[in-house]
Amino acid sequence: MSVLNHSGHDYALLVERWQSLAVEHSLHSQVLCTTENHPVFVFENEASKAGQSGGLYISTGIHGDECAPVWALLDWVAENPSFLSTHPVVILPCLNPVGLIANHREAAHGIDLNRQFNDPSHPLIAALHHFLQGRRFDCTVTLHEDYDSTGIYLYELSLRGSHGDALLTACESTIPRETATEVDGNPFTRALLFRDYGVDRFIEEQLGGGWPESIYLFQHHSDHCYTFETPSEFDLTRRIITHRLFLDALACQIRTGN
Ligand SMILES: [Zn+2]
Repeated sequence: MSVLNHSGHDYALLVERWQSLAVEHSLHSQVLCTTENHPVFVFENEASKAGQSGGLYISTGIHGDECAPVWALLDWVAENPSFLSTHPVVILPCLNPVGLIANHREAAHGIDLNRQFNDPSHPLIAALHHFLQGRRFDCTVTLHEDYDSTGIYLYELSLRGSHGDALLTACESTIPRETATEVDGNPFTRALLFRDYGVDRFIEEQLGGGWPESIYLFQHHSDHCYTFETPSEFDLTRRIITHRLFLDALACQIRTGN
């Protein structure tokens, strides 16, 4: 069991750990932008930098009150050098340092970055759009938490059929699936919401036109996008382990082509 010896909201420590990891695993690092004096980093491995096809995009920390996946992703990358040496990977380890430090969902000025992805007037969104220009990923994953939920759940946007149920199965021994059949007004079946069309209507009806990261990625950069959620009121260690199990299962799917 991995146990944190800090609050989970220490951004300076997170940056220090990622910089060490980047050296150890030969990851290229770039500052996307600086927000309230905090740099927002993107890392990518050599295969991604060289433009190799079939990439994986992993992002987290866009909501500052959802800290488990931020530390889970760091651990997962540290412990999976073989995956990183064979697959192109882009990593956004914390898109909202201001929120993480304050333990707030929103970024500076009360902005929910995960409803801004169609609006490049925000400097971070503009920088990320620029970084993503011309890139395609086999799969993208955005890692989140939900303080209302009582279990794990998964959004899957895919033009290649649904593969999400197996990922939930891999995680449910640590935290069970959400049993509600509706989350945020959306219908779920055994904690999975799968969509392959109707995304524009969903944005208008459910989100008031504000685009989440995953929908932007699905519209422009990938045919297969996951958003995985753990219940943020559960034990932090269990939540971290659950996000790592999710990434392990996803890496296994990518390795075996399922
Ligand atoms: Zn979130």
